[in-house]
This record gives sequence, C-alpha cells and structure tokens, in this order.
Amino acid sequence: MNVEFVNTLSDNYAYLLLPAGSDAVAVVDPGEAAPVLRALAKHQRRLTHVLLTHHHFDHVGGLSEFVATFPDLVVVAHEVDAAQVKGVTHRVVHDDTFIVGSATVQVLSVPCHTRGHVAFLTAGKLFTGDTLFSAGCGRFFEGDATQMFHALDVVIGGLPEETEIYCGHEYTEANLRFAASIEPGNLEIEAHASWARSRRADGLPTLPSTLRAERSFNPFLRTRVPAVANAVGCSSERPVEVLAALRTLKDGFRA
Ligand SMILES: [Zn+2]
Ligand SMILES: [Zn+2]
Repeated sequence: MNVEFVNTLSDNYAYLLLPAGSDAVAVVDPGEAAPVLRALAKHQRRLTHVLLTHHHFDHVGGLSEFVATFPDLVVVAHEVDAAQVKGVTHRVVHDDTFIVGSATVQVLSVPCHTRGHVAFLTAGKLFTGDTLFSAGCGRFFEGDATQMFHALDVVIGGLPEETEIYCGHEYTEANLRFAASIEPGNLEIEAHASWARSRRADGLPTLPSTLRAERSFNPFLRTRVPAVANAVGCSSERPVEVLAALRTLKDGFRA
C-alpha cells in the first residue's frame, strides 16, 4: 500500500491510498478537488473511494466535484457526521471494515473534535484527521476531555507502536513550540523540532509520524508523565484532567 501526500487549502493534507496489485485509489479527506485530481492524473488508476474522517469543510470540500466526476464512487463517513455531508454513500461505525482494491480498511471511532470523527487504519497506517496531530491533538469542538483521552489513550493508544500516523494538517512545528513550553527539558522535542524545521525548509511534510515517536514528544500522549502534569498544575494520576488543562492552554497559546 503506497500513500501519496496531496497539499490542499493552506495546511491540510489529503492522501491517496494506492493498494498494490489493484487499480483502485481511495482519497482521504479531500478538502478541495483540483490538487487531488492533479495527483490522480499521474496514476493509471480509478478513484473508487473517498474516506472522510469528519464533517468539517476543510476535509470534505472536494467531495461534490468527485461525486459528479466519478460514478459509483463509494463515500465513507461515520453515520453521525454523514448527516452533515452531502454525498456519503457508506455510513460506518466503530470497527467496521471495508475493502479498497486489495486492502482492508478498518474504522476506529474517535469522537470529540466532532461527534462522528473516525480514524482509518490500513496496512499499519492510521489516518487521524483532526484527532491526533504530530505533537498535538484536535480541538474539542463537539466533545470533552474524557472522550479525547479515550480516543488517544485507548483506541489509538492500543495500536502497535510502529503504527504510522498520517494527520489532517501540517501543524507539527507550531505544536512542538507548545510542547517545548510544557516540557522545556525534553530533548526529544528539541531534536524533533530541528528535524521538522529542515523538512519544512525543503518543502517536505513532517509526516507520517509513528505512535512510538509521538509518545516521546507529544504532550497530549504524555498526560501520565509527571513533568507534563506538573506543568499544567495537575496530578499525573488524573490524566484526563491533564489532557483538559493542556487543551485549554494550547487554545490560548501563541508561539
Ligand atoms: Zn476539523
Ligand atoms: Zn481540519
């Protein structure tokens, strides 16, 4: 399974999923159509699936053009968020699976940023939309810290350490500035920030990350680390409170 990055809007990523031994293509979160169509044109393949992590416009904006262009397109979204997106054909819930070409894709329900937010897992690669970012996490627009904690700690956190993380936005550098403000003594944050800076200077994405790497520098996955809990005035025994405090601080953080 190859994955291709497509830059959309100002800092969103759509992804082309190119399963081996098949001419199918899925696109994850097409915020706009034109760049995705340009990327598709380089392949002798047909777009069969659109996978939507959640209903926000910067993730679904290209959909209507695809529906008009590709008949028989399968458009996948969680049944809750599907109600807010025109053109969804395949409503899913947690643990559903479906096939794209030769690949099986599993749905993981991770509500909080939106009530019907999902992540898609295939071939050890996880597409996290606006739930998990590299060095950060999404805003709690339609949920609370308990839900986000469950999403990050249990659902995503239960996956193998080497799981590759593909996020909905290129937010890594700004997120690492916040991470450094929480844990100024964490050398992993410093090292990753300098790597991210050089990647961005070369016009390259800072993704995919891995769960193992995120656990070393992402404060939202480090809520049980005493240094992180202390920095937000909470106890590491109460990681949900740490997560809530981190999110509140990040909302007001200007690097
Ligand atoms: Zn969003
Ligand atoms: Zn977004």
